[in-house]
This record gives sequence, structure tokens and C-alpha cells, in this order.
Amino acid sequence: MSEQLTRRSFLKGVAGAVGAAAVSSIAGCAAKESPATSAAAESTTTAAETATETASAGNGTYIPGTYTGTADGIHSTITVTMTFDEEKVTDVVLDVSGETPGYGQDAGDALKEALLAAQSTEIDAVSGSTITSQAVITAAGKCFAQARGEAVMEVITVDKGSADDWLGTEPIIDDSSIAETWDTDILIVGAGNGGMCAAAYAAQKGLKFRVIEQNPVVQDTRHWYGAIDSSESKKAGVTVNRKKLLAEISRYASGKCDQRVVSTWINESAAMHDFVAGILESDPYNYSCVFTAGEEARWPESPDSPDYMFPEQEHTYHGSQIPRNEVFQQYIEGLGYSVDFNTSLVKLEKDGNGRVTGIIAQKSSGEFVRINAAKGVLLACGGYPGNPYMMEALDPLGTSVTTACSFSPSDQGMGIRAAMWAGASLDKEAAPMLFDRGLVAPGVDGGYVDSPSSFGGKAFPGTVKQYNPGTQPFLKVNRKGLRFTNESSPYNDTSYAAGNQPGRVYAQIHDANYMEDIKRFHTIGCSAMARNVPGMMEGQIAQYVEEGLIFQADTLEELADKLGFDAEAKASFLATVERYNELYDAQSDDDFGKMAPRLSAIRQAPFYGCWLGASLLTTEQGIAINENTQALDENRNPIEGLYITGDMSGSFFANNYPCLMPGVACGRTLTFAIKAIKQMGGLE
Ligand SMILES: Cc1cc2nc3c(=O)[nH]c(=O)nc-3n(C[C@H](O)[C@H](O)[C@H](O)COP(=O)(O)OP(=O)(O)OC[C@H]3O[C@@H](n4cnc5c(N)ncnc54)[C@H](O)[C@@H]3O)c2cc1C
Repeated sequence: MSEQLTRRSFLKGVAGAVGAAAVSSIAGCAAKESPATSAAAESTTTAAETATETASAGNGTYIPGTYTGTADGIHSTITVTMTFDEEKVTDVVLDVSGETPGYGQDAGDALKEALLAAQSTEIDAVSGSTITSQAVITAAGKCFAQARGEAVMEVITVDKGSADDWLGTEPIIDDSSIAETWDTDILIVGAGNGGMCAAAYAAQKGLKFRVIEQNPVVQDTRHWYGAIDSSESKKAGVTVNRKKLLAEISRYASGKCDQRVVSTWINESAAMHDFVAGILESDPYNYSCVFTAGEEARWPESPDSPDYMFPEQEHTYHGSQIPRNEVFQQYIEGLGYSVDFNTSLVKLEKDGNGRVTGIIAQKSSGEFVRINAAKGVLLACGGYPGNPYMMEALDPLGTSVTTACSFSPSDQGMGIRAAMWAGASLDKEAAPMLFDRGLVAPGVDGGYVDSPSSFGGKAFPGTVKQYNPGTQPFLKVNRKGLRFTNESSPYNDTSYAAGNQPGRVYAQIHDANYMEDIKRFHTIGCSAMARNVPGMMEGQIAQYVEEGLIFQADTLEELADKLGFDAEAKASFLATVERYNELYDAQSDDDFGKMAPRLSAIRQAPFYGCWLGASLLTTEQGIAINENTQALDENRNPIEGLYITGDMSGSFFANNYPCLMPGVACGRTLTFAIKAIKQMGGLE
């Protein structure tokens, strides 16, 4: 469903009133979502003109009469007709006959009742019929506006794709709909980890640029970033074998990467760190870099340890200080620049030679803005974890094993879609960042559940974003009570192995000596928090026992019952624990080959168990780029004027994310952000 937006007289004064009402009722359903989510939803709705002044209301709330409003549903234009007396709505008639049979068509009665009961548009969407519901709410808003004697507006929703067609169609926006034109040299889209680093670098170099962001604030900072042979590494006397690292990343991607692109990160990330450190370690911040190296960055020594590479490359700035993205915001503001918040990319614009000349953006007030960027556009809009249409179409496996959301709901793949509309090529393989930390209740399966208040009407079932100790290599069993994998692995391996098990979830089991075990396991990356953060384990166990998500028992039989095993599975579970204790005693995992230091005994009460799936952080399947961060078309030719960084850039990861190289994702994001600015700014 695409829209031709051709309205000439854009009425700023009225824009937003009905649009905001319609959106806020949807956002109101999502009470637990962040402001960013609501803003993201808001930014896709266009309130455009057509105001008709009607007679003023008398002494009552409404002007009695029957009013009609329309709005686009998923397949049809929906009509809502509402009758008002002076004080209330007395009748509602909906025409949803053109919507999906079994879904939108069936939602009509419930929506009618809800409107009558609420006497407002503050109603919940009907599960499975979010778009239809949203259209009914929008159309009803128009009826209310007329009955109050207020202006009535046509609310136009920019296409965000659908379950059948995640890519959708590039909207056609007529010149007459453009309220403003901005001219700049460099346009950065997205004030997240990539975008803010790019902005800070461009500001330091005194370049002419603008940065737009759909939300009212910068994105959360992702703290750990990877940089190879940085000044911190040199201080610690650490060097990385670059040839081996390139081979390891290629092996992880099964060769489906571009080694020249990977080499850009390997070779230029040290300079990226110098730039970041130059701001964060100077006045007024004076932060100290925390560099993880040596024994802390490695797995325990063992003859049967797998041949993984753990490059020591992780940098962060801890503490209660201002996070990096906000520091960068302050930095650019100090140099006279600013972020244009509440402004979303809608589409890219090209000239007759195929060069990207700028974008059309939309402010949250509804106005369209043309932004001309003489030297190029950098897209840094993140991945598509918050877009169920894209997740289901592009990564059915990752979707099926996921139980929890750690991602930013704002990252909905809108940058990827805009780049593809402009002819850019998307990586062919998914590469989700999945951590084995999606704590759920017994009986919950991996994969989406209906969630009318979420974009796309779906969400993952877990309420806990990440149960960090899920990564500890304790015994893990499936719903049949059987062990099914070597639990000592990169974060996503157990989750993928569970993809072949019933319900795509598994139980993690340990006994009272868990802290001793965790210290010996010596996991790395952010899972090291379980051993390094005092009281974290005890606190989380207490909290989730209280919430009924972790089970504590005095006997293994009792634990099996609490975890919900049936009689046959319970017998298997008890036998599995007995066998696991034998393997521990022998210090040899003859069943799955787990390294000896990561075996543990399960003998000392109380016993603990919980169910887990994957928690989705982001997606790394992006637009193919070359080593200069230029977007590539399907023929692998660069699209002039278009640069991409971060999670929406491709050519680096495939299949999954190399969790044992913590910080690569953010490291490449920041490195390519700087690279793109250098390219556009003519600095190299
Ligand atoms: C909880 C969590 C922790 C993580 N921790 C780490 C870590 O420690 N180390 C690491 O390497 N990686 C980490 N990652 C991954 C990391 O966030 C990414 O790999 C990457 O750094 C994100 O950068 P980005 O600029 O691509 O996207 P983001 O930082 O997500 O920024 C994208 C921005 O674009 C905006 N945007 C989207 N669409 C539009 C539009 N149409 N118009 C305007 N703006 C738009 C969004 O609102 C957002 O502000 C983590 C991810 C999560 C979710």
C-alpha cells in the first residue's frame, strides 16, 4: 500500500491533532514500551491538510448528528460512521468488509463495542488486526473531531510494509507536499552509535553536515567496541594476529563476507579508538578506557578446549558517566551543530545519473522536508529486529528460537528498505545477534506471540530482556529431560541447537554451588559479569524465583515437577542429571565433549532450574557495502552519494554474530562511520 502525497496547502496548525489522537491510543496500548517506541510509531503517521470548519458545539460536548470518517486499512479504505447526541456517542457503524477474512473483517464488532464503551478513541487494537484497528481508530478520530466542531484532517500513513510484503513500495511524494528544503553537504540519518560517531568526527573536521533522528533523543550507547592493535592494546603489550582474525571472521561467515570490508575494520579501528578516546579522555570528561586483555579475555586452559579465537580487542568506558552517544551530542553542540530530532527518513532521492542527492524526511508533526546533501548521505538507521515482517521473512530460524527482546524497538529496518528502493543490494543471509538469555516460564515456546500494541502485531513472549547467567555452561536439557548439546559454546549456539528441540527452548540446571562453578567456568565478554559483578547472581536468582521464572527446590524430583516435566520426561531428567554427575566425576564429557573445567556437579541442595530461549539484540544482515562504505547495487557497483554504516550495513557477517569477539559489531559501526565521513568530506 503506497501513498501518493500531493496535497498543496499543508496546515501546520491542525497537523497532529487527529494524528496524535490516533497514534496515542495505539501507543497507549503499549504502556510498557519506551518513549522511543511511541515516537517511532508516531513518526510514520502523516497528518495532512483538508480542514473544514464546522459549526461550533452548543452547550453540550458534541454537535448532535451523524458523521463519517475514513482511513486506509490493510486492504481497503475503512469507513466509520458515528452518531452523537449532545453528550455521547449513541451508535457506531463500521465498514471493514474489505479487510482480511478471519482477521480484520472479524475485528469490527469488537472495535465497535470498544468505541462505544470508551466513548473515545482510547481503545486497544484487536489482536492479529493491528492495522485494521489503527485505521478504525483514525477514522473514528475524524468523527469525534467533526462532532466537536474541530478541523478534520486526512491522516496519511507512510507505508511500513506488511506480512506479505515487508519491502513495500517507495512512496511518491509530490513536490507540492514538501514544506521545507534544507541544503547541506553531508547528511547523517540516525543519531545512534554509528550516526553520533560520524557526527562527532564531521564536527571535529569542521564539515558542513546535518544529522536527523526519528526519536526525540539519541539512541542508547552500546558500550563495548572492538578495535585492533589500538593504543590501549599497545599499552597492555597485546597484539592480534590480523591474518588469523580475518580468516576467523570469514570462517564465521562461511565466506559470505567481503574480506576487504572486514580488513577495513581490522586496519582502521585503532584510529577510530584514538578519535573516540580523544574526546572521552579529554576535558571535561576525562574518562578512563577499560581494556580487557590477558587471562580475563580467554577461556580456561583445557586439553579439550575448542579452537576458538578470542582476540583481545574490547574497549569500553564504564561508570555512571554520560554515555558516549550523549557525549558526542554535547560535543557537536559545543561546536555549533545540532541533531534534528523527530525527523524520519522516508526515502532517498537520486538524480538522472543514479547519484543519491539527498532524502525526503518527515517531521513528527507530519511535514515533509527535502534535504539536499551535496556530498552524500550516510545511513545509520540500525537493523530490523523491531520489524516482525522482516524478521519472519528474512530470518525464520532466528525468529523461531527467540523468546525475548533486547533490541531497540526503533530499529525497524526502515533504512534498509529506503536503500533497497534506491537500488541497493541486501545481504542474502540473516545474521542475528542472539544471546542465550531469554528467560521464560515453563511451557512457553520460542517465536512470536500476538501483541496488538507492537509494530506488526507481534512480539517475543519473554518479559525479561536478558537473564545474563543464561550463558553460563551449566547442564541444559530439552522438554524431554534430555541433554542435547555441548553447553560450552558461543552465546547463540545452544539457542540454535534448541531449534531442533521441542518448543525450541531448554532448561538450565545448577545446584547451590553455582558461584564456585561460575568462577571456574570463566566465561568471557559480557557473560563475565556473572562472576565479576558482586551479588549479581544472588540478586537475579532471588528476583526471578519471586517472579516464578526460576525454580528452587530441595530435591531434584521437586525441581523436575516445578519445571513442568511430565512423568516420562521427569524420569529422563533424573537419569540425565545422574549421568551428568558421572561425567563431572570422570572429568570427561564423553557424550558431548564439553571441556572439563566447564562440567559441574548437581548434588548440593537447593537446586535451581529455569527455561530459556534466545534474546534478540539486533540484526547484522545489511546493505552490501565496499571497503569505502559505499552502498552497492545488485551488480556490485557503488551507488554514488550513498554510504552505510552499523547494523544496516552488510558484507561483514553471515549466519550469526561472532559472540566470542565481543565488540566487533559496535567496533565496525564506529570505524565505518568515520570512514564514510572521510570519504564524503574528501579527507582521504
Ligand atoms: C542491548 C544491546 C547491547 C549491545 N551491546 C553491544 C556492545 O556492547 N558491543 C557491540 O559491539 N555491540 C553491541 N550491541 C550491538 C550494537 O548496538 C550495534 O551493532 C551497533 O553498534 C548499532 O549501531 P547503529 O548506529 O547501526 O544503530 P543504532 O545505534 O541502533 O542507531 C540507529 C538509529 O537510527 C534511528 N533510525 C532508525 N530508522 C530511522 C529513520 N527512518 N529515520 C531517522 N532515524 C532512524 C534509530 O532511532 C536509532 O537512533 C548491542 C545491542 C543491543 C540491543
